[in-house]
Amino acid sequence: MDCPICQGSGWVCADHKDRPTEMLIDGGCDCGAEGAPCVCNPEAHVVFKAMFASIDVGSVKTWLQ
Ligand SMILES: [Zn+2]
Ligand SMILES: [Zn+2]
Repeated sequence: MDCPICQGSGWVCADHKDRPTEMLIDGGCDCGAEGAPCVCNPEAHVVFKAMFASIDVGSVKTWLQ
């Protein structure tokens, strides 16, 4: 579970895929590139979409009422 590349965050720097992104890990790569799924987390993009889908379902209903 604790990947040495991404330090268990599941995300790395898109330009430096052997380093975690600083968005999730203190001391991670801060070159300004976006995050990318780590090799240990090949389905991260699916999880990401699912997270947003569930957030939308819950919060949008609340906001519209
Ligand atoms: Zn990893
Ligand atoms: Zn980088």
